[in-house]
Parts: sequence; structure tokens; C-alpha cells
Amino acid sequence: QAKVAGKNCYRYYSRAMDHAVERRVHMEQELRGAWERGELRLVYQPIFRTRDRRMVGVEVLLRWQHPTLGTIPPSVFIEVAEQSGLIEVIGPKVLRAACMEAVQWPHSVDGEGMFVSVNVSPRQLRGGELPALVADCLRDTGLPASRLHLELTETAVIGDEMLAAALLDKLHRTGVKVWLDDFGTGFSGLSHLRQVPVDGVKIDKSFVADMQRDPDDLALTTAIIAMAHALGITVVAEGIEQEVQFDLLSQRGCDLAQGYWLSVPITATEVVEMIESGR
Ligand code: C2E
Ligand code: MG
Ligand code: MG
Ligand code: MG
Repeated sequence: QAKVAGKNCYRYYSRAMDHAVERRVHMEQELRGAWERGELRLVYQPIFRTRDRRMVGVEVLLRWQHPTLGTIPPSVFIEVAEQSGLIEVIGPKVLRAACMEAVQWPHSVDGEGMFVSVNVSPRQLRGGELPALVADCLRDTGLPASRLHLELTETAVIGDEMLAAALLDKLHRTGVKVWLDDFGTGFSGLSHLRQVPVDGVKIDKSFVADMQRDPDDLALTTAIIAMAHALGITVVAEGIEQEVQFDLLSQRGCDLAQGYWLSVPITATEVVEMIESGR
């Protein structure tokens, strides 16, 4: 097939590939100093209790604003950070900054402290340093462990269940909660939840997006909620863009909800304003 396509065609693809590689290398170089130059910042997306629609916590999301490359989405730069290993430098900074921020937030009207949920890349689980890092951040900032949640992806804990269970055990001993992010996309299945003791699952937004139209998505979501509850696990739905989705989820007993329909990601200042206004 390549022979038939001819030499020019090959060269064309090769140049296109070179270009992509160059861009990636450039992005990696720029990402290396981005934190120090103040180009990376944290935003916070509120998470609500479905029962009374009260804000109970936030998820931390990283943003990169580069002077010439513009706004680069996390779907692009987190992968660069993962593959280059830079996530091992940036990840701990995000965790620490999130704890420092959250410890300053006022408590809500009913006296509860907001939780802060931090995404952790698979690569940050390697080497086994995460539990110590978490303990250090909690001690240094004074944030109560119960107010810190970690979001691990399903794929990060598939494969070596023994190792994953041991890591989760160490994390639990620091007092933090662990959630499985993008749940349902990793093909690990619900039975997996028995072996890997997590506190919550976040139903992936791809299931939520079509649940009001697609009976399969609705059935899956309903099954995830029922099964998780049978195992005593909290269910969070992400990517709620419409009221009908929120209603379907809360009717089915989904505990927590997150999405543009409820709130887009906001700044730390806006988080404080939202807590103070009693939402
Ligand atoms: P995620 O952890 O699943 O985060 C949820 C993503 O869904 C966020 O995208 C959020 O802005 C977006 N989202 C929230 N509500 C809606 C909605 O109603 N509709 C739709 N379509 N999307 C919604 P974002 O901020 O672009 O982040 C993308 C991914 O990048 C995250 O997915 C997470 O995997 C990764 N990421 C972001 N920040 C960090 C970080 O600090 N560390 C690590 N390791 N990964 C991060
Ligand atoms: Mg997440
Ligand atoms: Mg997710
Ligand atoms: Mg994701």
C-alpha cells in the first residue's frame, strides 16, 4: 500500500509528522517553566448535592494561558505533561496549591467545610510517593483530610489490582477520599469496585450527554448508581448540561452533580463569594 502511494505521499506524511513532533517538543519546553512564569492557574468547578442543590465542594481544574500559543486545553497539555514526566513536578504543585486555597474558605451555612477534589494522573501513582505527598500537604497547610478528595482514573487502577488496593489503603490512612474519575469508560466493569476500595465514582460525561435520548445510556447510568449504592459508594455525575439530565440523575438517587448547567469552573475568589452568598 505504501509503495503504491508513492514517494511524494510518504514525504508528505513524514513532514506532517515532523511538524507534529516539533510542536510537541516546543510545547513540552514551554510547559517546563510555565508554573514559575505564572501561566498555569487553578480554576474550581462547584459540585452540588442533588438532594438540596447545595454546593458541597469543588473540583480543581488546571488552566494554561501561554503568551504566544494562547489558551491550551488540559486535554492537550496534561497528556504532554504525562508523557514527558513533567506531571510529576506539576501535579504536586497543584495539590499543594489546592490545599492552601481550600483551607482559607469559610464554612457553609450548615457549618460544613467544602471539599476540594484534585485530579491525579496515572503517572503520579508510580513510585509510590503519593501517600507521603498527600500527608505532607495536609500537615503543611492544615487542611482537614476529610476535605481532600483525589480523583484517579479507572485506567490507573486497572491491571494490577493488588498494587492498586495497597495504594488506596495507604491513601485512606491519610484520611482523604478517593474517587474513580470518568467511570464507565475504562471497561473495568462494576465488579471491579469490589477489589478496588474507592469512596466514590464519577459517572463519565459521555453517559450523561445523551441519557435523555439514549435508553442504553440511561440504563447504564441507572445501573451504575444502583450498584455503587449497594456497595456503599458515593455517585457523582459530571457533564450535566441540561435540567432534564439533572432531574433524571436525582430521581435515580445520584448523590452529587457537576456540570455547566449548575456552574462552569470559577476562580477561587468566586468560590468564596458563592459560599458566603449561601448557595
Ligand atoms: P475531568 O477530570 O473529567 O474533568 C471534567 C472536565 O469536564 C473538565 O474539563 C470540565 O471543565 C469539563 N466539564 C465540566 N462540566 C461540563 C459540562 O457540563 N459539559 C462538558 N462537555 N464538559 C464539562 P477540563 O477542565 O478541560 O479538563 C479536562 C481533563 O483534563 C480533566 O477531565 C482531567 O482529566 C484533566 N485535568 C484537568 N486538570 C488537571 C490536573 O490538575 N491534573 C491532572 N492530572 N489532570 C487534570
Ligand atoms: Mg476529574
Ligand atoms: Mg471526568
Ligand atoms: Mg478526564
